[in-house]
Amino acid sequence: MKCNRNIIVGVSLRVFEVIAAITGQGLICARDVMGKTVGYLHSVNRKVIKMEYEEIKNRLAPCGLHCGKCFAFSDGDIVESSRQLKASLGNFDVYAERFVELLDQPVFKKYPAFKEMLDLFSMAGCSGCRKENCKLFKNCKVRSCSEQKGVDFCFQCSDFPCGNTGFDEHLNRRSVAINRQMAQIGIEKYYDEIKDEPRY
Ligand code: SF4
Ligand code: SF4
Repeated sequence: MKCNRNIIVGVSLRVFEVIAAITGQGLICARDVMGKTVGYLHSVNRKVIKMEYEEIKNRLAPCGLHCGKCFAFSDGDIVESSRQLKASLGNFDVYAERFVELLDQPVFKKYPAFKEMLDLFSMAGCSGCRKENCKLFKNCKVRSCSEQKGVDFCFQCSDFPCGNTGFDEHLNRRSVAINRQMAQIGIEKYYDEIKDEPRY
């Protein structure tokens, strides 16, 4: 989960609430002195619980798939890590060529292909399913359908599970399973459980 603000735990509840009121939109992560996330502000402030739901909606599609971990998502881990790695590698092209012989490692010949992939990951520009059509599942009908039905997620729909997703069998099964889990434990808890898991 991307934090808009980080604060070190140990401050009073009132200070948490004041920060929440001032910062408005966004997610504030409480961290211990080592920088490890130990909680989110929504857990201590009712007002922020609502924001958390909206934040989750920006990252979870109505079908339940996690846009936040999609390689095409503009605000995701994959694009961020790829950009960092790209910056850290600098002019590695030159060295990759040299390392083939210098280190006797033919694998460095594959660096251009790796870099091409890294470039692609670094250019991710999808704003997520709630804001634009999915680039991966072009036949998806869930987004427009959920808007028509007035639901945030499929499990909230009276027709769930339906045959109207446009997904293939595999994806449909996955979406139904995710939605059943969300219905059972709640969206916030579900998201908390999967937010750090890879999507692939
Ligand atoms: S809408 Fe589709 S392409 Fe865009 S982030 Fe979500 S899953 Fe990925
Ligand atoms: S009809 Fe199907 S695809 Fe549309 S919102 Fe309901 S469960 Fe989702």
